[in-house]
Amino acid sequence: MIRRLIALTATIAALATPTFAQQKANQLFGAARSASPHQPAAFGSYSRGCASGLVQLPETGPTWQAMRLSRNRNWGHPDAIRFIQRLSEFAALQPGWNGLYIGDISQPRGGPMLSGHASHQLGLDIDIWMRPANNLQLSRQQRENISSINVRSADQRSVNGNYSEVHRVILQSAAMDPAVDRIFVTPPVKIALCQSATSRDKNWLQKIRPLYGHNYHFHVRLKCPKDSPACQTQTPSVRELSNGGSGCDETLMWWVTDYLNPPKQTQPSKPAPKKKGARDFVMADLPQQCSAVLAAR
Ligand SMILES: [Zn+2]
Repeated sequence: MIRRLIALTATIAALATPTFAQQKANQLFGAARSASPHQPAAFGSYSRGCASGLVQLPETGPTWQAMRLSRNRNWGHPDAIRFIQRLSEFAALQPGWNGLYIGDISQPRGGPMLSGHASHQLGLDIDIWMRPANNLQLSRQQRENISSINVRSADQRSVNGNYSEVHRVILQSAAMDPAVDRIFVTPPVKIALCQSATSRDKNWLQKIRPLYGHNYHFHVRLKCPKDSPACQTQTPSVRELSNGGSGCDETLMWWVTDYLNPPKQTQPSKPAPKKKGARDFVMADLPQQCSAVLAAR
């Protein structure tokens, strides 16, 4: 009788526990405390994937500090770590800056997160603070408490006094880096960049993409690394290819006009069906390799 009861309890427990494939990916990846022991590689897409062999960005380097260390999101593909070294060395040459404050990269094994970002899943997305990194001696506690600075005006239509020539120079340098695929900034920053660029050299502006948010940081997305055949390259949209590729056109101005004040609809539009977001993914939604990335000790 007791044996039968135990068997029954076990059956109920098995039914109550979802199979591995049906478990929430953000809970599993959010719990990983260290990188997988494999070679570095990214699997899947920036918003639906994971990464093996990620490297932890040193908390303090000669020209950077990683911020919000408690989040444990300072893990990146070696390409991302090298990029941060390059760009922060360049930033340190600028007046008033000694390097860069680095926000979130990825979790130790990438993957969807419990909070925040939909992307940042491959160790190839890097948030960089707009706040000039003039002090590289910040304690762990200070790095939890201090905030970045907002470079957007209150009406969201232009940059404010916090935006400087140094931001422009750093963003241009980042965009011209061959490892960079695109950089997300608040639309007023892109407008300011378009206004100050000379017509002779505008190609790098193609990589600067306007997006909501991104007024306290800019977001650098690197290309799929050579070691990652299963990493899915993002295709540019038609909008991004307009006007010779610079994107300095009416699609950019949309962000500071209709986007902020949507024209009244004459007919009620049907609500779009809700898309499955990064926090809804179960393991079965991710590339197959991600199960092995997660399981390896
Ligand atoms: Zn970001």
